[in-house]
Amino acid sequence: MSQFKYMLEENELPTHWYNLIADMKNPPPPYLHPATLEVMGPDDLAPVFPQALIMQEASRERYIEIPDQVRDVLKMWRPSPLYRARRWEKALDTPAKIYYKWEGVSPPGSHKPNTAVAQCYYAKEEGLDGFATETGAGQWGSALCLAAGLFGLQCKVFMVTISYHQKPYRRIAMETWGGTVVPSPSTETKAGRDILAVDPDTTGSLGIAISEAIEYAVTHDGFKYSLGSVVNFVLLHQTVVGLEARKQMEMAGDYPDIIIGCAGGGSNAAGLIYPFLKDRLDGSRPDLRAIFVESTACPSMTRGVYAYDWGDTAKTGPVAKMHTVGHGFIPAPVHAGGLRYHGMAPSICALLDQGEAEARSYHQNVCFDAAVSFARAEGTIVAPETAHAVRAVYDEALACKEAGESKVILFNNSGHGHFDLAAYDAYLRKDLPDYVLEEEKVQRALKELPQVPA
Ligand SMILES: *Cc1c(COP(=O)(O)O)cnc(C)c1O
Repeated sequence: MSQFKYMLEENELPTHWYNLIADMKNPPPPYLHPATLEVMGPDDLAPVFPQALIMQEASRERYIEIPDQVRDVLKMWRPSPLYRARRWEKALDTPAKIYYKWEGVSPPGSHKPNTAVAQCYYAKEEGLDGFATETGAGQWGSALCLAAGLFGLQCKVFMVTISYHQKPYRRIAMETWGGTVVPSPSTETKAGRDILAVDPDTTGSLGIAISEAIEYAVTHDGFKYSLGSVVNFVLLHQTVVGLEARKQMEMAGDYPDIIIGCAGGGSNAAGLIYPFLKDRLDGSRPDLRAIFVESTACPSMTRGVYAYDWGDTAKTGPVAKMHTVGHGFIPAPVHAGGLRYHGMAPSICALLDQGEAEARSYHQNVCFDAAVSFARAEGTIVAPETAHAVRAVYDEALACKEAGESKVILFNNSGHGHFDLAAYDAYLRKDLPDYVLEEEKVQRALKELPQVPA
């Protein structure tokens, strides 16, 4: 009898997060202050993030305990299932074995609540009233609004204008869970007003929305800023995904040759990949391949530079060494709103730089080709972001067919696309553009990088 899904009991939810930084020979360098470009210490971050998260950001401990109150909330939908995509394997006629971790079972439908819940717990412990944050497609905003409500916190969301209009259902979900949502750039912050003065018709960007959320947090008593990706503590919280998947792959009697995740800021991919990549770094699985997949519309890893850059457009947040297309870059309005961030998680970038991981990018139409093939075989209609991972799996599975190799491929199915059906509609009607990004636009944005002394 074929087995299709591998389930863990509630009491098998991980008790600790795994911190890959502890196992990196060359961890990413520290953040720099946005104005002075000096190394930033914990005190500099204190007005922005809750203290416990600042400590986690700099931690070199390998395992960090998950508080019971956090585990109790995660148990609402975790442990999440691991599937073997047998029907899709058959449809692709590939000898590869394809597994996926399914994060769409959370109430907002993605992996994002894994960190939202932890962040809200620490904010409540610190006595805060609420969080300000940004959101692209609305996935992160809805995760944080849900978690904030569960811990009795307020949530103020700056939502990238184009998504605010393209995806009203996410806004409604955020408001249903008790959050307040404004389109960004907004007139509520100086950062927003400055942008609108120059370009009143801007579609917005994550970089701008981050600037607004940080400004709102530091100018409102009892508020701090919450970030849904990129930084170490977010990637740390997402490792529950990979820790569960390790046990489930053991149940399946397989170990991945290739692990794949889509990457906007890198959190879902790292969450799945890092607990396995540990084995590559310690030499026990030197051939394990980790592939981070991005959008050609915002190709930080595949066309950007590895350099220090500001994390946000108004240069108010920390400066990090990362693959970037420039903090002033405004990507084309692809449907994968969550993949429109100009930078990438510094730890992923360090791994890419050290040759421990790979990156690739795809145009949106080929991603939807693969996502539709996946939906017809496996049922799940994945998020447009996730479709990028699905495409990479598709290509690897076909490469296995060509080579007659039965590799084990594991990917993070980071969320469902139920709020993104307009994108599928455009695709099915052959009305979905592929944007060609001119090198000149990348070069122009890269001219504004900070001049950091070596
Ligand atoms: C936000 C989002 C992403 C991209 O963010 P990462 O931090 O790179 O994971 C990917 N998939 C889904 C479903 C998302 O909501």
